[in-house]
Amino acid sequence: MNLLEMLNEDLNTDSNSNERPGFTKFEVGDTLITVLAIGTPRWTHFIKSAGKLTVNCPGQNCPVCSIIRAAKKNDQKTDHKSTKKYGMLVYNHNSGELEILDQKITFIRNFQSMLQELKEDAAEAIMEENQELTKEEAMEKVDTSVYDPTQFVTRIRRKGTGMNDTEYSFKKAPKSNQKPTPEDIVEKANELNINELWLVLDNDQLKQLLAGKTLKEIFNPEEADEESDGLGVDFTK
Ligand SMILES: [Zn+2]
Repeated sequence: MNLLEMLNEDLNTDSNSNERPGFTKFEVGDTLITVLAIGTPRWTHFIKSAGKLTVNCPGQNCPVCSIIRAAKKNDQKTDHKSTKKYGMLVYNHNSGELEILDQKITFIRNFQSMLQELKEDAAEAIMEENQELTKEEAMEKVDTSVYDPTQFVTRIRRKGTGMNDTEYSFKKAPKSNQKPTPEDIVEKANELNINELWLVLDNDQLKQLLAGKTLKEIFNPEEADEESDGLGVDFTK
């Protein structure tokens, strides 16, 4: 089931079908997660005028990209933004839920360097035992379970709450926090494709969104005529 099908189900049953996992929110302090699936990177647009929606960039001839391009060319400011994002399906040990962790490249880079460090530390330990090995050879000998975030619990620590002082640090969680992901969560994650959980609009639908139409008016024009309460799904959560 992709996001649009889930949304349609939500709209038709008038209740949250619970099929689409919520987004991981980090409180100040520690959040423990296990990564279950990693999506491919994608360009997104944040559309403030559409209730702060984030949509995938459709690519060629994208109307949002042309607004941003034109603004840059004329040295003007625009509310529209283009951001590269990476999504993951994670088990959040704090909330006990399957969630979508969708973050910008800086967050992912910091996560990645923590994994790289784990790998290098393990390679150094191998080199100490076998002094003949070059670093490259030792790196190749490191077991993936050491640095593959799907195989252990990661501790993400948030400091600060503001736009400019929020910082995340990453660490493999201590042994006492290394707990398996519940079987039903793993099963649920296996049924979903992380690359299909995003809001995808084509150029024409995106133009309608920019012109002020709601998602419901764009996707279900007949139903939207009957009810005018808009879409009950908040993509920012
Ligand atoms: Zn675009």
